[in-house]
Amino acid sequence: MRPIQATISLSALEHNLAVAKSKTPHSKVMAVVKANGYGHGLLNAAKGLKAADGFAILGLDEALTLRAAGYKQTILMLEGFFSVDELPVISEQGISIVVHSHKQVEMLESANLAAPIAIHFKMNTGMNRLGFKPQDFESILARLKVCKNVADITLMAHFATADESLGIAKSLAVFKQATQSHQHPHSLANSAALLRFPEAHADWVRAGIMLYGTSPISEESAAGFDLKPVMQFTSEIISVQKLEVGESLGYGHRFTATKKTQIGIVACGYADGYPRHAPNGTPIVVAGKLTQTLGRVSMDMLFVDITAISEAEIGTAVEMWGNIVSVDDVAHSAGTISYELLCAVAPRVPVKAIA
Ligand SMILES: *Cc1c(COP(=O)(O)O)cnc(C)c1O
Repeated sequence: MRPIQATISLSALEHNLAVAKSKTPHSKVMAVVKANGYGHGLLNAAKGLKAADGFAILGLDEALTLRAAGYKQTILMLEGFFSVDELPVISEQGISIVVHSHKQVEMLESANLAAPIAIHFKMNTGMNRLGFKPQDFESILARLKVCKNVADITLMAHFATADESLGIAKSLAVFKQATQSHQHPHSLANSAALLRFPEAHADWVRAGIMLYGTSPISEESAAGFDLKPVMQFTSEIISVQKLEVGESLGYGHRFTATKKTQIGIVACGYADGYPRHAPNGTPIVVAGKLTQTLGRVSMDMLFVDITAISEAEIGTAVEMWGNIVSVDDVAHSAGTISYELLCAVAPRVPVKAIA
């Protein structure tokens, strides 16, 4: 079998959830497990995060998978329902939905359901992605309050710049102004807002990336927030090459040796989810030692510099990211963010949960 694997630490998930809870002791924590648990496996993520007060996903299939696995807490569909035929099962299974569009409000009003549905009513406070503008919020909320298919209402918004120097002040002020005359619970903060802005904690927080042990804020490390890496993405060296001065490596000859260079060929490529845009010099670990990638990443393989790692040979362990090199560092080198790398771990990579 190809030696590649993603190993998921359930105890690290538990630890990171405890960190989130300790930072926001008066809020309920909704663990965001969309995108297959940020690439960790939906049920692996849910298992490690089972102490969360709720889970957030996108699709009804994911919500039903969680219910079928026995999770009784709030399960929120972050984009709500997509078609009216989803409503009966949402109602039967006690799933909560975001309501963000006029179309959804109309569908809710005209449905005949066995039981009303808890909703998170979403305001657009400046991100301009989903939700109602503050000036429309009041009138739609009045309609939802009298809608027979609507049970509890939580008021929700999402910050566009919680991880940036702009912060959340403007967005939070818009939300508070538009909701001040209502008693409903609030749900506002993502991981960055949870870590940076206690004033945004409210009744619910929606923590995603921090639970997976990576930092939502580019200038700060996960370790600085006491977060532990959850995924260790590993493989092995399957071939070794010696480069003489002037010899080049891989597609496009993107690396040419200026001294004798020993190269390890690793069973991991972009078809496994390793970023093709990672340049020469991206950090990677061989035999527990930090080294660098060289040359262009190919579909099924990549190159590592093992010149200084004399014990490296066929079968030597490689960590693409995890415990020694963080996914944040690899993402930074490749010009992206940890979210994208974690979600991109390909279905062909075996995922194994450990205690
Ligand atoms: C994904 C998502 C979150 C979680 O964001 P993180 O940055 O991963 O903490 C929270 N709220 C909404 C609406 C989301 O889509």
